Amino acid sequence: MSKQDNVKPTNFIHQIIESDIADEKVAGGQVVTRFPPEPNGYLHIGHAKSICLNFGTAAKYQGQCNLRFDDTNPEKESQEYIDAIAEDVRWLGFKWNGDIRYTSDYFEQLYQWALYLIANGKAYVDSLSAHEMREFRGNLTEPGKNSPYRERSVAENLELFERMRNGEFEEGDCALRVKIDMAAPNMNLRDPVIYRIRKAHHHQTGDKWCIYPSYDYAHGQSDALEGVTHSICTLEFEDHRPLYDWFIANLPVPAQPRQYEFARLNLNYTITSKRKLKLLVDEKHVVGWDDPRMPTISGLRRRGYTPASIRNFCEMIGVTRSNGVVDMGMLESAVRDDLDANAPRAMCVTRPLKVTISNFAEGKEEWFELPAHPKDESMGLRKVSFGRNLLIEQEDFEEEKPRKWKRLAPGDAVRLRGAYVITCNEVIKDDAGNIVELICSYDPATKGENPTGYKPNGVIHWVNADHSVPCEVRLYDRLFTEANPEADKAVDFQNYLNSGSLEVLTDSRVEIGLKHAVAEAHYQFERLGYFSVDKDSDENRLVFNRTVTLRDSWMKIQGK
Ligand code: ATP
Ligand code: MG
Repeated sequence: MSKQDNVKPTNFIHQIIESDIADEKVAGGQVVTRFPPEPNGYLHIGHAKSICLNFGTAAKYQGQCNLRFDDTNPEKESQEYIDAIAEDVRWLGFKWNGDIRYTSDYFEQLYQWALYLIANGKAYVDSLSAHEMREFRGNLTEPGKNSPYRERSVAENLELFERMRNGEFEEGDCALRVKIDMAAPNMNLRDPVIYRIRKAHHHQTGDKWCIYPSYDYAHGQSDALEGVTHSICTLEFEDHRPLYDWFIANLPVPAQPRQYEFARLNLNYTITSKRKLKLLVDEKHVVGWDDPRMPTISGLRRRGYTPASIRNFCEMIGVTRSNGVVDMGMLESAVRDDLDANAPRAMCVTRPLKVTISNFAEGKEEWFELPAHPKDESMGLRKVSFGRNLLIEQEDFEEEKPRKWKRLAPGDAVRLRGAYVITCNEVIKDDAGNIVELICSYDPATKGENPTGYKPNGVIHWVNADHSVPCEVRLYDRLFTEANPEADKAVDFQNYLNSGSLEVLTDSRVEIGLKHAVAEAHYQFERLGYFSVDKDSDENRLVFNRTVTLRDSWMKIQGK
């Protein structure tokens, strides 16, 4: 699907908000959402959907969106991830309300509310082991059993909980649970644990705490403290909603947020799970979180995706409650659309073949002015250098030309893009029989004119061998060979990594105007695709990443 298809994407969250506004159910009249990442990895394209939804929804209704780190698992979290996530949100073009927030900002209040639950006979310290707790919990067909510690007195619970906080117990010795119903059909209501002992250093609170709240307990209360009106999350949390509501109903919270769930984004030929992406990084299957093959926001950025292309993609896929898999081709088509309109054009020869123009004087140079963009005059002109020694793409020459060949062949003519028509007069080979050079002649009458008396086969790109910039070109393919690398639970998804996902060409050359191209600049290399300057570039060597090919050739190759 592309923008032209004119399909209006659905967003049922917007419908809910509109009816809430109409019914005057939005507290304070202002929609407040939040994006609540756990800082345990870098964000991926799935998170981009959630970011666009939360920030986009707030913006649409003149509300606010908070960025809140859900930092209740200190062992897996780090400042590196916090910084990377904040940068990704900013880069996508969104601005959060006020300062960055942390669930850990609310640890003291959450602790006080835990005391409140205990005092009201709604929470107890359980001394069952984790294993016993699991056994007592029952399963989907059998009700659970009450813990023998469930009826501890309020005084005993208060004392034990304080001692938990003071570090007098070891991890696993006890936990604080809320008293709901061990026979509830919804397992999440079978006296869930809301505080665990974790003797871990926390990136925000240091060693202040050795008990940490559960996600379920912390999340809704943090929403309430921030005045969040619509707490939007993915469908896995649907079964947690009754618990979310239970806390809001049983605590003296300052607001009444509501949780709404939407379907997470799944994209084929990749994975959207921080945990699994971390494995790829840790096991060095990729060069880092921002490897251009990664579906992380930082990887897509390095690959050459633009913020607008990712936002447009999220708009195109819509927001629903039905889980599905989105085709990678759709993401690619979003970036193609954006770069087609906005990327200046340039010529790059990725696998060079030497062409000598025998009738063009040695040492002479001629400049051609070409539009930076064929459809956008405002982008101006670029200067391209022509001379006796040129380079063309190896694959643009065939000694035995196939039928309907549109490029160069012995005795044939082609136009060099934006310059002259040349004719191939001689093919020079090395001892091994490889073609190493073509001797051609140019037709001086063909500058901006068609030749008379003969017809060129087509148009090919080229650069001046003596006046162009050496560069490295990195071509990428799908990271996985299987559409769903997670489908077979018995097989490790890493078995489906595509060994050919990166091809590096080190002999490439790009037109001289790109000499000072800066990191993250985007170009369309004519006939080849869209490329962007990699951060590995330095003054001696430019490195380009192919963001995407000009057309969706991949689908055709796969026979779809
Ligand atoms: P992961 O499994 O990749 O770690 P997560 O859900 O644990 O994802 P969080 O950091 O907790 O990651 O996610 C922050 C927000 O992004 C949550 O509201 C979550 O629902 C949402 N989110 C995560 N993955 C997706 C996805 N694939 N599609 C849409 N939203 C997502
Ligand atoms: Mg999570």
